Amino acid sequence: MDKTHAYFHELKKADVHNHFHLGGSQKRFLEKYPNSDIIFPDKYDGLVGMIDFIYGHLNKSMLTSEDVINFMEISIESSIDDNITLLEASVDVNLARFFNNSLDEVIQQVKRIKEKYKAKIDFRPDIGINKDLPIDKVYEYGEQCINSGIFNGIDLYGKEADQNLVPFQELFKTAKRNNIKTKVHIGEFSDCKSIEETILMLNPDELQHGINAINSQKTMDLILERDIRLNICPQSNISLGTVKNIKAHPIKKLFDNGIKVTVNTDDLILFNATISDEFYNLYSNSIFSLNELEIIRNNAF
Ligand SMILES: [Zn+2]
Repeated sequence: MDKTHAYFHELKKADVHNHFHLGGSQKRFLEKYPNSDIIFPDKYDGLVGMIDFIYGHLNKSMLTSEDVINFMEISIESSIDDNITLLEASVDVNLARFFNNSLDEVIQQVKRIKEKYKAKIDFRPDIGINKDLPIDKVYEYGEQCINSGIFNGIDLYGKEADQNLVPFQELFKTAKRNNIKTKVHIGEFSDCKSIEETILMLNPDELQHGINAINSQKTMDLILERDIRLNICPQSNISLGTVKNIKAHPIKKLFDNGIKVTVNTDDLILFNATISDEFYNLYSNSIFSLNELEIIRNNAF
């Protein structure tokens, strides 16, 4: 018998590619900010268009530390709404700018939120670092987060193509020494070569997106050889225009090549697709069978 959306909603799920303060549902956001005149588009003009929307529109509602805390709480509540029981979400260290440049205050808030919701969700924060951050700040903030003991992972993001990753090598080594899981955004906009270079340079445990690996058997072999998991967000790829539609998405081919994949939200507030929505889309468009979706759901735990 065909499964409904409710079937996927009821399943316990994990979200392992989530940018914490952008993880709230549009519904919860509008409930909290009823006077916002924001109109969320269905599509963004690539990464630049998305960043323009965040700075030009969304951030008009995120002006103070209190707003940042609201955005974080909306996010975790939205995850709970979708029966997410494990959440690995990256906390952008540059949010410290809303807290008088005190990263410690951000860390305290993350700790408080983790504690507040612990009966409902296992929230494991990742250290979120944008490659644009000055490198001295990257190390100062990175080490402060590692020393706090509350972070389980580190996630490096921002522009993908032609980036010099050498300055981040030592940080990734320090993270590994401290049993911090390492993730890098690559291969959503950038090519196979950039994926291979990133893997060789940073030796990450997981790739956020990595979907363009599909264009090279050699790249896929490297991913398989190192047992790297790909944390994929189909609707994000579609909204940003890197994939035309769900039927054209490479996730099935990556899965068929034996690569460990997961399905995630990325930024729920922007892309408006929960993991239940994603699972239902992949199922109702006959991309994956129920058994295959079970494998993918379990991959994330
Ligand atoms: Zn992402």
